[in-house]
Amino acid sequence: MDVRDKTILVTGAGRGIGRSLALHFARKGANLALMDTNREGVDETRAQCAEAGVTARSYVANAADEDRVIGALDEVTADFGRLDGLVNNAGIVRDALLVKVKDGQVVGKMTLADWQAVIDVNLTGVFLCAREAAERMIRLASRGVIVNISSISRAGNIGQTNYTAAKAGVAAMTVVWAKELARYGIRVGAVAPGFIRTPMVESMKPEALARMTAPIPLGRLGEPEEIAHAVGFIFENELFSGRCLEVDGGLRM
Ligand code: NAP
Repeated sequence: MDVRDKTILVTGAGRGIGRSLALHFARKGANLALMDTNREGVDETRAQCAEAGVTARSYVANAADEDRVIGALDEVTADFGRLDGLVNNAGIVRDALLVKVKDGQVVGKMTLADWQAVIDVNLTGVFLCAREAAERMIRLASRGVIVNISSISRAGNIGQTNYTAAKAGVAAMTVVWAKELARYGIRVGAVAPGFIRTPMVESMKPEALARMTAPIPLGRLGEPEEIAHAVGFIFENELFSGRCLEVDGGLRM
């Protein structure tokens, strides 16, 4: 897809990878619909996209709230008159061991609240946004592209039962939707980032960050722009569908 003058919706666009995605597409001439729960963040992203000379609008909505997602998608198609792309990027972490043991005693467990919060945003949110976007792309005969942000943690990462389950689900849904939506000319792909320098990662303690970086073969965190570049590749390459691109400096879980 040549993204010039197309309309692309990015969720979680208020900072981190989502902001880089928005700016990547803005610089290529796409108009941006930016969804986030953080009004200040998403308005800043909108302003930065506008500087690139494209139309950008903010939509403050929780990607896990069905009514808000339907409402926001209706607003996007009313505002832009089209929808050509969706990047399902909004995500959260609530890490904990399944069962935490200290000195032979069980001292903690992953709470149901932490399990559910991550499943709601990272799995149900992706489902809701993709469903509503696909419905509108089909109605508008858009032949669009949907890219879901998974994670290399989908293979199974210690402390991330909830996140791993959600991100494995995201990769699996990508395959289903690529098969179901191909007949409408819609391609669906996924990107699984390794560890990327964003507020989500930078909020970690320095020792934890150093422990995390040490096993990366390229010896560094990824940059958000490198993930945006990979998502841009999926948009541009008309043969790409149903696969998950790993962008991780060679790190394997
Ligand atoms: P981030 O810096 O924490 O930014 C996430 C953005 O999404 C924030 O603006 C956040 O708003 C927003 N958001 C959170 N929940 C939302 C919801 N329910 N509805 C709408 N917006 C919501 O995260 P990131 O590191 O850029 O990660 C982006 C994506 O990449 C996520 O799916 C993450 O799992 C994935 N990923 C990241 C890494 C990494 O190393 N950073 C690695 C693999 C995969 P608030 O400020 O209101 O929370």
